[in-house]
Amino acid sequence: MYKAKAYAVASATSPFTSTSISRRDPTDHDVQIEILFCGICHSDLHQARNEWSGMMPTVYPCVPGHEIVGRVTKVGSAVKKFKPGDLAAVGCLVDSDGTCPECKAGFEQFCPNMTLTYNFPDKNSGGVTYGGYSDSIVVTEHFVLKVPTNLDLAGTAPLLCAGITTYSPMRHWGVTKGKKVGVVGLGGLGHMGVKFAHAFGAHTVVFTTSPAKKDDALRLGADEVVISKNADEMAKHAGSFDFILDAVAADHDINAYIQMLRRDGNITMVGAPEKPLPVSVFGLIFARRSFSGSLIGGIAETQEMLDFCGKHNITSDVEVIPIQKLNEAYERLAKSDVKYRFSIDMASLKSE
Ligand code: NAP
Ligand code: ZN
Repeated sequence: MYKAKAYAVASATSPFTSTSISRRDPTDHDVQIEILFCGICHSDLHQARNEWSGMMPTVYPCVPGHEIVGRVTKVGSAVKKFKPGDLAAVGCLVDSDGTCPECKAGFEQFCPNMTLTYNFPDKNSGGVTYGGYSDSIVVTEHFVLKVPTNLDLAGTAPLLCAGITTYSPMRHWGVTKGKKVGVVGLGGLGHMGVKFAHAFGAHTVVFTTSPAKKDDALRLGADEVVISKNADEMAKHAGSFDFILDAVAADHDINAYIQMLRRDGNITMVGAPEKPLPVSVFGLIFARRSFSGSLIGGIAETQEMLDFCGKHNITSDVEVIPIQKLNEAYERLAKSDVKYRFSIDMASLKSE
């Protein structure tokens, strides 16, 4: 074991403070990474503040962070894909059993024995996993991704969660040229959804509660922007969408969006609000619409997404912050005031 620097919260109401955590020494199949940037996902906030206490109660101290980009510092003797000095990335998953049907099909995120990057039982230490708000991490090779060398690293980190979480359902539901696609909520996930829908050639419509984000939405690739509080603007789009991606982190009226789907249209929730959403069954049955969910993506698909981003020069729009501004960033994230993802420059942790 060795000590790594990190920022942790001690309870649902505590601020982040500097601390040190234990990481395992790399074994034969492990890759040790010096973390250069880590994105701040709204899931980090849900988890730090124990907002998912029903489904995934938080174990404290908690070190969030699952949008990790860094440089390899050490590899185990059996590691084939990486060598010291290589760029490397880690997302929401750090382990799975590798033998179940889900793993064999490339859906490690649905493996009954998968391990999330933080706040999850750690099979290696017997404790809990600690995420990327840290200067280093050790991860088994299968869960370490290759980073395209042409991309800005601060903007690449958010691809590891916000990127794959929006790319995967759009691929699954066939978002292509000729399709009309909606993205609800222009936050970290939503703005990546807009970039991908646009890159896939779809007619892309953003639904936002924030009129001030309209110009950005158009710049990011939207063809149209709807202020969702405006009933007239909403009514114009009734029954017209092939696919809608809902990336809202809070309670909202899902039925207003179900009504916007055409026959056989699908709305996929990637946002994970704390409380259940009431769904109008009539809205679904009258046009054979479907309502579904999606969780990040598998490892092979995450690599495919990173390679796609390398080819098309896609990164997240980030506000780079030193780790000392973490508490301020959380306050702003809670108010949907970020353009459009915070990315922590981990060089700032060296002075702690
Ligand atoms: P975020 O940056 O905070 O973005 C959420 C956006 O939702 C906001 O920017 C805002 O957009 C909109 N919004 C917020 N409050 C709202 C309200 N009361 N009513 C309507 N719209 C509201 O969060 P994020 O990091 O993108 O994460 C979004 C959600 O996805 C979180 O719940 C997170 O836990 C979840 N998530 C799920 C997965 C998965 O695998 N399924 C992966 C990562 C994250 P406007 O200002 O444009 O309205
Ligand atoms: Zn996330």
